[in-house]
Amino acid sequence: MSTIPGRQPRFQIADELVYLDGNSLGALPTGVADRLQEVVRREWGEGLIRSWNDAHWMELSRRVAARIAPLIGVGPGDVHLGDSTSVSLFKTTVAAARLRPGRQVLVVEPSTFPTDGYVIAGVADLMGLELRWCDPADPLAAVDDDVALLSLTHVDFRTGAMFDMATITAAAQARGALVQWDLCHSTGAVPVDLTGVGADLAVGCTYKYLNGGPGSPAFLWVAPEHQAAARQPITGWMGHAAPFAMARDYAPVDGIGRFASGTPPVLALSALEAALEAFEGISLDALRDRSLELTDLFIALVDERLPGVFEIATPRDHQRRGSQVSLRHDHAYGVVQALIARNVIGDFRDPDIARFGFAPLYNTPDHVRTAVERLEAVMANEEYADPAYSSRNAVT
Ligand SMILES: *Cc1c(COP(=O)(O)O)cnc(C)c1O
Repeated sequence: MSTIPGRQPRFQIADELVYLDGNSLGALPTGVADRLQEVVRREWGEGLIRSWNDAHWMELSRRVAARIAPLIGVGPGDVHLGDSTSVSLFKTTVAAARLRPGRQVLVVEPSTFPTDGYVIAGVADLMGLELRWCDPADPLAAVDDDVALLSLTHVDFRTGAMFDMATITAAAQARGALVQWDLCHSTGAVPVDLTGVGADLAVGCTYKYLNGGPGSPAFLWVAPEHQAAARQPITGWMGHAAPFAMARDYAPVDGIGRFASGTPPVLALSALEAALEAFEGISLDALRDRSLELTDLFIALVDERLPGVFEIATPRDHQRRGSQVSLRHDHAYGVVQALIARNVIGDFRDPDIARFGFAPLYNTPDHVRTAVERLEAVMANEEYADPAYSSRNAVT
């Protein structure tokens, strides 16, 4: 299996499998299993408590963060890693609201990934602020002089539609609001330049296109100019200026490190560090070219072989497309299940979306052709109508 032309295979995926769900759980990069073995057996098993110093566990989070930074266009010392996306978003959203005292409104988009809405609603409740839902077709219409923060997801998880980050950021900031981007469906597949667009805050997953493994820690970023004044709500000892002084009173460390709370997840960070090796030597532009090649091909083949069968929910315009293609169909759940039975793994999103993620690091044009061939068979034989698919699994 080839990855980007000229690259060696860097992933362990069964040959017979067409895996188009790397936007939900990235594939296993070669090297991760061995690295985890080593950390568990040698660093933990033999080194024990000494490994906090000898194996540099304390610096692990910063080291991994520095590898993610170039993928989102920020400085290596300005990213923090360690919590879930949901918890990271709680921290950055509280910090953002505190950076804009006197402004009462947090703006969120209703079709965003639900956790973003839930967490930001929770922050509004906690801080006595107002949550305002914006129109995804025109988020700026909701931004006025009362708005402290506009928080958007760069690439929509259902449709793969992508916001124009530069234009929206500049326009919302011109009205005095801070702008936060959730990069869960962008990082590792779509070039992002947070510094270039002048964004204020960002969060993102590492278990999707970054392949860090199930539940791997999310990242957060706060623009350098905000860090000194930023106050996040979970003021744990790991964000203290001197954790081992065991002082009574909290004093946050300078820089992004103040967004840490508790002991870092060493095993998960070690897996992620090894996983990020797969990005070594690969430019974001090459990734984007590959991603568009794959999604263009998928759309073209669905148009050609299955005309009128699906509504393509993903924008055809490159400027507005992330790295997935979503097909609407009344039997979308059955379509996805029948494809899985044929070794093509995508996923279903309520109510009618069959979603196919294209991971530019390891998916190939052959995967796309095979997927569409099998989709044709599923539709021709009405395999989606199998009664076995009439009730849904817990994770779809
Ligand atoms: C996947 C995803 C999340 C996941 O949040 P966790 O706390 O890591 O479970 C959050 N937001 C968006 C936009 C996502 O796509």
